[in-house]
Amino acid sequence: MKYGKLVDSYRKLSSTSKKLEKTSIVAKLLKSASDEDTVMLAMLFQGRIFPEWDETELGVADSIMIKTLIRISGVSESEIKLISRKTGDLGDAAEKILEKRKQTTLHKKSLSLDDVYSNLQKIPTIGGVGSVEKRMSLISELLSSATPEEGKYITRTILQTLRLGVGEGTMRDSIAKAYGVEPSLVERAHNIRNDFGEVATLAREQGESGLKKLSLEVGRPLKPMLAKKTEGIENAVADMGGIAAWEIKYDGMRVQIHKKGSEIRVFTRRLDDVSKQFYDIVELASESISAKDCILEGEAVGVDPNTRRPLPFQQLSRRIKRKYDIEELSREIPVTVNLFDILYLDGKSLLDSPFEERRKLLVKSVNPSGSKFAFAEQLISGEKKKIKRFYERALSMGHEGLMAKNLKAKYTPGSRVKHMYKLKPEMESLDLVIIGAIWGEGRRASWLGSFILGARDPDTSEFVEVGKVATGLTDENLKKLTEILKPLITKDNVSTVDVRPKIVVEVGYEEIQKSPTYRSGFALRFPRVKEIRDDKGPEDADSVERVARLYELQRK
Ligand code: AMP
Repeated sequence: MKYGKLVDSYRKLSSTSKKLEKTSIVAKLLKSASDEDTVMLAMLFQGRIFPEWDETELGVADSIMIKTLIRISGVSESEIKLISRKTGDLGDAAEKILEKRKQTTLHKKSLSLDDVYSNLQKIPTIGGVGSVEKRMSLISELLSSATPEEGKYITRTILQTLRLGVGEGTMRDSIAKAYGVEPSLVERAHNIRNDFGEVATLAREQGESGLKKLSLEVGRPLKPMLAKKTEGIENAVADMGGIAAWEIKYDGMRVQIHKKGSEIRVFTRRLDDVSKQFYDIVELASESISAKDCILEGEAVGVDPNTRRPLPFQQLSRRIKRKYDIEELSREIPVTVNLFDILYLDGKSLLDSPFEERRKLLVKSVNPSGSKFAFAEQLISGEKKKIKRFYERALSMGHEGLMAKNLKAKYTPGSRVKHMYKLKPEMESLDLVIIGAIWGEGRRASWLGSFILGARDPDTSEFVEVGKVATGLTDENLKKLTEILKPLITKDNVSTVDVRPKIVVEVGYEEIQKSPTYRSGFALRFPRVKEIRDDKGPEDADSVERVARLYELQRK
């Protein structure tokens, strides 16, 4: 297929914000594609070159893109920067630059999907001396043959800024529509494989029966099942409606441990392979797991080596990012793993087995290494009093709360399910002032989409940043906030704006963390706007002291 055909679809996608129309556009091209083109189309529609389970990144910086554009067009760096500043996007700049070039050189051959896809796939494989030069020549090769519009989309694909609104939901529905299969089967397959290219090919070649047969593969991470939130013991017990499994909710990092013979790999919930950083989990797993092949799930918790109490997640997260002195950091922040599920055992997927059976198989498959690699503590009960005592004990030990799990429920990867609840004390919300904002993207490009929050500093009467919030607001509220904030803009920095501190929002969050980046010294984890507080002014906003006090409270 010609790349130009995909670009026609890109153009149509960018001109509509309706999900149904987007689905039709993607489905139509998928349907008309040959077998070989299916994977490439599924990837390129999402602006991807590699599937989600694959961590390979293109790693091309804006500066390399600019250099390449200079090379092929002869336009100067300052001119390119001027154009991209005007358009705010290097893709648009590339189009304009290629239009200029077109007047002198006619492009030679028309690009195929394969030309684009294979050239981009080669980029990360190039390393060593002269690699920048070689990468640039792969990109130049493409841009030299591209029409200006193709160049725009190639540039955006390379810089991962395609943003055509083809998210997971659209991809799922498009594949279902193109090949006449149930969207739920496409979703299940994708949650297991994390590769729309593979799922599209399977749906095309084998239809629903092929999708149904799809199973787990040890070594390929799958999306974890997610819990719903419940407030208070009363509701939690009522939500479970009888006897259920209650487990300590450990505050750490969810890990998926894959074991195939002697090979062990550890993945995060975002499917990143962290086996190197958590070599100690690999060692513990290899000593303790008796099953030959399996996929286990658990929570890795950082532990204070002196007090043995759990450390805040933030400490543990230092280990996730660490690339050097890994062993040293592992002594500073040792981990324990609390196992709570098993998804695969010796050739058999356990996704459809009830939780109580999975827990039994989990216990059979592991010989715990003391408390370092053990099972999540569990209470099977429907008695409120007992559950309440368990909850209080969990909190007093420094854990986050409890998880409640239906004993009969299956494991549905990637879904937030009504048979697993999390119960933890609600943090008090904060009233904060909006001190800046960032314009939205795609459908929301004409509204401000995320907001910079400030707490009051009583000494200076200034507002200092404690975080950024983008969730909790309906479209209607985003519009309203944009209207209110526009006249308050004091500085326009193209994609972001500074605003006069006037508007107060009530913000809920999961945790307050120490932050070296924000001036307040604190940051909110998972903030969400609960309400726009028209009734409050900036003088009523919470102070940095209150944030600090809540931070201390939460540590206790
Ligand atoms: P949250 O991150 O607040 O949505 O809560 C769900 C998370 O709690 C899961 O993704 C796990 O990482 C974590 N967790 C801690 N202990 C358990 C447990 N016993 N069972 C399931 N998840 C747990």
